[in-house]
Amino acid sequence: MKFNTKAIHGGQHDIDPAYGAVMPPIYQTTTYAQATPGGHKGFEYSRSANPTRTALERAFASIENGNYGLAFGSGLAAIDAVMKLLKPGDEVIATSDLYGGTYRLFTKIFEGFGIKFHLVGMENATAVESYINTKTKLIWVETPTNPMMNIIDIKKVATIAKKHKVLLAVDNTFATPYLQQPLEMGADIVMHSATKYLGGHSDVVMGALIIKDKKLADKLYFIQNASGAICGPQDSFLVLRGLKTLPIRMQRHCENGKIIAEYLAMHPKIEKVYWPGFESHPNHNIAKEQMKDFGGMISFVTKGNNYKDAIKIVENLKIFTLAESLGGVESLAGHPASMTHASIPKEEREKIGIVDALIRLSVGIEDADDLIADLKQAIG
Ligand SMILES: *Cc1c(COP(=O)(O)O)cnc(C)c1O
Repeated sequence: MKFNTKAIHGGQHDIDPAYGAVMPPIYQTTTYAQATPGGHKGFEYSRSANPTRTALERAFASIENGNYGLAFGSGLAAIDAVMKLLKPGDEVIATSDLYGGTYRLFTKIFEGFGIKFHLVGMENATAVESYINTKTKLIWVETPTNPMMNIIDIKKVATIAKKHKVLLAVDNTFATPYLQQPLEMGADIVMHSATKYLGGHSDVVMGALIIKDKKLADKLYFIQNASGAICGPQDSFLVLRGLKTLPIRMQRHCENGKIIAEYLAMHPKIEKVYWPGFESHPNHNIAKEQMKDFGGMISFVTKGNNYKDAIKIVENLKIFTLAESLGGVESLAGHPASMTHASIPKEEREKIGIVDALIRLSVGIEDADDLIADLKQAIG
């Protein structure tokens, strides 16, 4: 099956053996009748498995070319499950400009449990190798990064991870499997905040892990069930519904993204635009090689790096909503320094480029003309 077909049918055979419902029913139940103790039809208790969630987990596995999918109550719950593979004393190498919540989970929770994190700019993939020692157990990659849109060479990092027998996890939230499939490039685990593009309608918070290897998947399933950060059947249904239109939504996000990135780059009041589709982007060639297109996430800085100008723009926007999050059908604008990345200390933030005048756009699937007109009136 090819990607568009997988988005609709992947893992969806035999979903409702009872009545043949074409769409998976919402099994709003915690428990399942047993004919005799242990004599059940594959489901016992909905923390362990629920048919609606199972349908979604199979769909996750299918679209990322994995063998196993796991759905969680949020993206951070999914990351938390991966971290529970580790023990005190273990070390992790992670992308330096991480999603703010991931940074907080690593440094404020898991550092306290004795896990050491090396935050490394991985645009030069070989830099990763110098941080590896016998305690290194995991490399955590985000690409494109949030919000600086840096691109990391997944294949190169995977080669280093394999050589040293270290697990590689890729947060594929920004790219989605429409643009890149990290398991195909050598990653062991793909993680998603399904809250974003996979759900696609800004109405569900959810996380996902996708794995190829059975032993690793078994360990993560054990953690999912033992720790219990699962998602409910109603949310599973909604994300499964969202997945079916992922390819056509992504296509439009990319088309609109390109139009808006090019518009901003020409604008006299804009200093800099971060978007991997520009030939001038430092890792444009890697983006071109590992991604099918360049996505709908764009960051930009106003001329003169003036905080007040940036705030005025985000307040003036009418079609773009000033809000956290990304990846929905509707366009959103955010101010990372005061919103998504406020939990990162100012000096740390500025070191990686998150200045006070940086604005991040999640370009939706509206008409590009309307989005451009909105930016035009807001920037003035
Ligand atoms: C939103 C996000 C997360 C966290 O996911 P939640 O669903 O909000 O818990 C992790 N990584 C990236 C890149 C994100 O954008």
